Amino acid sequence: MLPTQDPCAQPALLHPAEAMEKLMAQVEEIQDSEMVNLANATGRILAENLASSIDLPPFDNSSMDGFAFRFEDLDASGTTELTLAGTSFAGHPYQGKAEPGTCIRIMTGAPVPSGYDTVQMQEKTQTQGKLISIESPKAKGANVRLQGEELTRGTKILTKGTIIRAAEMGILATIGIDQVRVKRRLTVAFFSTGDELRPIGSELAPGQIYDSNRYSIQGLLTKANIEWIDLGVIKDDKEAIRGAFREAASRADMVLTSGGVSVGDADYTKQILSEEGEITFWRLAIKPGKPFAFGKLGKAVFCGLPGNPVSSMVTFYKLVWPLINKMQGLTPTKPLICQAKLTTDIRKHPGRFEYQRAVVTSNDKGELEVATTGGQGSGMLTSMSLANCFVLLEREQGDTPAGSIVTIEPFNTVLS
Ligand code: AMP
Ligand code: MG
Repeated sequence: MLPTQDPCAQPALLHPAEAMEKLMAQVEEIQDSEMVNLANATGRILAENLASSIDLPPFDNSSMDGFAFRFEDLDASGTTELTLAGTSFAGHPYQGKAEPGTCIRIMTGAPVPSGYDTVQMQEKTQTQGKLISIESPKAKGANVRLQGEELTRGTKILTKGTIIRAAEMGILATIGIDQVRVKRRLTVAFFSTGDELRPIGSELAPGQIYDSNRYSIQGLLTKANIEWIDLGVIKDDKEAIRGAFREAASRADMVLTSGGVSVGDADYTKQILSEEGEITFWRLAIKPGKPFAFGKLGKAVFCGLPGNPVSSMVTFYKLVWPLINKMQGLTPTKPLICQAKLTTDIRKHPGRFEYQRAVVTSNDKGELEVATTGGQGSGMLTSMSLANCFVLLEREQGDTPAGSIVTIEPFNTVLS
């Protein structure tokens, strides 16, 4: 269980990797699973290991349109005349025997009958009635895809925790699976907090802004392929927040909020969370995204994102997305990190890790170049929209001039 902390305490800035480790230790993979039709399985996570019930390919077959024959019938001259004995089309195997000195016309994917062992492509043959002259291929077995050469029956083909994407859909269909056991989708309830927030479609009074975080969070959650419950905008009012917490916790595996986790006078999230559940609050050594609240609300996991729009997206990406993946049982993968040449100057104060929003491209030589997307304020969502990667800047790093080699992290599926 999490230790209850004074929600108003101001702990030192925490290293994001340390925060991640602590968070991951607090959440469990959900065990529930369900059967779904393969047609509805895209984006779901496999709940069991699957072995192939068939050899792949299931039978020896041709990878070319051409002629199949016995390699031993070819003479050393380089070209051999063989007698056409029949045909093997995809779905219509040749029924006869592989007699010496014969060949059959064969199409791509058609079975190579036992006895014949090699295929020559049509372009390297000549037909004169029933006589086919065949240029010798390099080796016995050319252009034949052997039964079981990809994998044999009983071999593991897909692993529990794999996300079902296009290739997995095809693999499952290849082995004839029409229903597949997948993890239950995680349910996430979310709401925004703030007296200044107005719903889109309404008029703004002075001092008000539209609630945008609920929509960027909705976009992120859609990419995470979970069930979401949108509880709207909640006022900076203790009892309203308490009510929203209770409703959210009763309906979801995870409760996600934006705003109200800083040190302002109307920042009630931490207080109510400590009263209703258990709280861990951090000020993270990252920019954007310093304040972040985490805890338990009944059985639900709670994540309180900062209100600044870029901060809420970055903390979601760095902290919440890995948690969701763990809870959904997805096999973890390491982010792709690479080096690129900076083409713009970067301004930075030492003290926090920064995730500056940037665009990576490849130049004429195929080398990576990266340029930041202008203003990097934690409220400037356009910097996220224009970007396709983060430039990762170490805690103690200061200003970085154009021409420097920097570390970048291209956006993963949740951000791109
Ligand atoms: P807070 O974390 O509540 O102190 O908010 C920090 C900043 O983010 C303030 O400028 C808020 O107006 C802004 N903000 C908070 N919530 C949202 C939201 N849902 N949509 C857009 N901006 C927000
Ligand atoms: Mg607020």
